[in-house]
Amino acid sequence: MEKKKMSLASKILIALIIGLITGIAVYYLPSGTFKDAILINGIFQLVGQIFLRSIMMVVVPLVFVSLVNGAASMGDVKKLGRVGVKTIGFYLFTTAIAIVIALVLGSVIRPGVGLDMGAIEAVETTVGDKTPLVQILYEIIPRNPIQAMADGNMLQIIAFAILTGIGLSILGEKGKSLLKLFNDLNELIMKLVEIVMLFAPIGVFGLIARTFATTGLAALVPLAKYVIAVYIGLIIHATVVYGGLFKALTGLPIGKFYKKFFPAMSVAFSTASSGATLPVSLEICENDLGISKEISSFTIPLGSTINMDGTAIMQGVATFFVAQVYNIPVTMGMMLTVVLTATLASIGTAGVPGAGAIMLSMVLQSIGLPLEGMGLIMGIDRLVDMGRTAINVTGDAVCTTIIAKQENELDTDVFHDMTKIKA
Ligand code: ASP
Repeated sequence: MEKKKMSLASKILIALIIGLITGIAVYYLPSGTFKDAILINGIFQLVGQIFLRSIMMVVVPLVFVSLVNGAASMGDVKKLGRVGVKTIGFYLFTTAIAIVIALVLGSVIRPGVGLDMGAIEAVETTVGDKTPLVQILYEIIPRNPIQAMADGNMLQIIAFAILTGIGLSILGEKGKSLLKLFNDLNELIMKLVEIVMLFAPIGVFGLIARTFATTGLAALVPLAKYVIAVYIGLIIHATVVYGGLFKALTGLPIGKFYKKFFPAMSVAFSTASSGATLPVSLEICENDLGISKEISSFTIPLGSTINMDGTAIMQGVATFFVAQVYNIPVTMGMMLTVVLTATLASIGTAGVPGAGAIMLSMVLQSIGLPLEGMGLIMGIDRLVDMGRTAINVTGDAVCTTIIAKQENELDTDVFHDMTKIKA
């Protein structure tokens, strides 16, 4: 019998499950050197951080190089504009739907009803300082692109890369050799991603085991309804909204998409960072889903920075949670405000762990809810963060596949080829 090699996706899935079980088991060990120094802050931390830092290492060069390539090879600025408008439109639209789903779930499941107020610790929340919208907009243009890269300021890197790409394509013949260099660099970075991903199962194990060994599941109990409501929202969004849009706009089966995209979702789940997942998403889009570099290298980095449907779902449910804990009725007007602010907040949310919870303070403030209500939520936020980040990155890839199909930039043979899952 032919021996079947296990795919990377299966290996990661197994690592996830073993990490989860190990983490919960370690949580119940008595505190001491073995538990804390050797396991949690020793082995788990070591393998988790090595993996996480290795992917983070390639993010900034990858975003820059791939976007320059993407913008330069789009051919004409008109096409770039069309794809850009479609992409941003799609991202905003799905985020707004996500919040509506969350608001419905929040009012039906009523996660905060019956919660003991005594259990809520006040939290020191620093409300995101109110930067004027105009400033947010002009600050997309970096004063110093090198500094933008050093700071990892994604929006600024994106702006500089797109302009560089446009410049290169206008240069035409004169820009050819530089463009070739960017192409080669892109190949190199993708190779690095592949190498790092070989280590993914061990890294994922370490990250998950550490999370659960620190948080345990017991902390979840008082908030079970909140966590379940968020996860139901995420599942509905992934199946009904993405599934429906995907089928209607591409005619392709979403099952295949999910099978291939799973490694990215699990990296997102274990790192709780869209930014860290970006290289993996990009690699899967180009190599496994058959999407052209032109499209994916543009839409994926953009999406990982501004498109956060999972985060929006959490913010919608959390709004109801806090309102219910304090017995404050949520009016229709408040809901509309939440849809607006949470959509904007999700654009402004950085693709790093916990960023969504900080932005939640802005959403709560916009409708005058007490920020202290966030205390409990913060305590278990990581467990919700993992799920919402997986949906955040999925939304980017769903949008990318749809746009690629419409722009005739999707190789359906590659998409359907199931041998093309990472071996
Ligand atoms: N961790 C999320 C992400 O990277 C952001 C959030 O906290 O909601 O996509």
